[in-house]
Amino acid sequence: MFRQALLAASRSGGARRIVETAPFGRDVVRRFIAGETVDDAFGVTQELTGQGLLVTLDVLGEYVGDVRQATATADHYVELLERLGGSGLGTRAEVSLKPSAIGQGIDDDLALASAQRVCQAARAASTTVTLDMEEHDRVDATLAMAHELRRDFPDVGVVVQSYLRRAEEYCADLAYEGSRVRLCKGAYAAPEAVAFTDRAEVDRSFVRCMKVLMAGKGHPMLATHDPRLIEIAGALAVLDGRDAETFEYQMLYGIRPQEQRRLAARGDQVRVYVAYGSEWYAYFMRRLAERPANVGFFIRSVAGR
Ligand code: FAD
Repeated sequence: MFRQALLAASRSGGARRIVETAPFGRDVVRRFIAGETVDDAFGVTQELTGQGLLVTLDVLGEYVGDVRQATATADHYVELLERLGGSGLGTRAEVSLKPSAIGQGIDDDLALASAQRVCQAARAASTTVTLDMEEHDRVDATLAMAHELRRDFPDVGVVVQSYLRRAEEYCADLAYEGSRVRLCKGAYAAPEAVAFTDRAEVDRSFVRCMKVLMAGKGHPMLATHDPRLIEIAGALAVLDGRDAETFEYQMLYGIRPQEQRRLAARGDQVRVYVAYGSEWYAYFMRRLAERPANVGFFIRSVAGR
């Protein structure tokens, strides 16, 4: 219920103004977000890759209002990738792209063309793109976009959210040679008709999906901070005879950083999702919704304690 309220607030203009003008400075937000500029993102990327971690960079912003904004977002990604390539970080850092940030739902042809442009820039920088998965009503369109992109860019990553009732079916379809699939629980509010709403059911679905992906021929990217699921992933890797380079763990910047380093130190691939930019509000609210303790942390900061 509380989670639903926070997710509803993530889409509310009024709540946005309150959070953005609250006197807590940038400190609370900076726990989850690398900063507002490309330089901030590069600083964090260098620090993380220096610790043996991999990175996926996300330019904050989603559900853009017009074609001009959508094109500007794609341009930003292309510039970011040119810089990644120039710095040689392309082998350690990829990008995550939200289809709604590049015009999906406004002009789908433009969104696809922009995604192709970003994929081309990623290839030139020796790296890859993963398409984030957003609200449940965008799943079919995003899977179709990924399918289209994979004709020319077979390494484009796609996301399956285990809260979706069809998650296991999506995983079975996507577990083919060379297919990079990120599995996560799902961060949005989705109705019971299409999604499990009970946390235990979402977790059980995650395990079923993991089994399919780890036994398959693709490259699973297991995006969770959940200790039990991470342990099961390790057991499946042994059971399925997977070497560390054939799959990866993924976590968000600012969440369980010690665990990220522990897994990397034992030889596993760990990729950290680093979000940056000025449009941090919706992303930040989803992080609050995931863990009630974060709200307490936020309120104490606002109160100046
Ligand atoms: P939870 O049960 O939520 O958390 C398990 C434990 O992790 C908690 O007990 C706590 O210790 C820690 N934890 C989790 N979240 C937080 C937090 N916010 N603050 C502090 N501690 C926390 N969702 C999408 O819908 N689409 C995407 O494309 C997408 N991409 C993602 C990419 C990556 C790399 C990751 C890690 C997540 C992504 N997500 C995405 C978000 C995901 O769906 C979950 O909402 C989020 O990861 C929390 O779920 P969890 O598996 O960590 O489990």
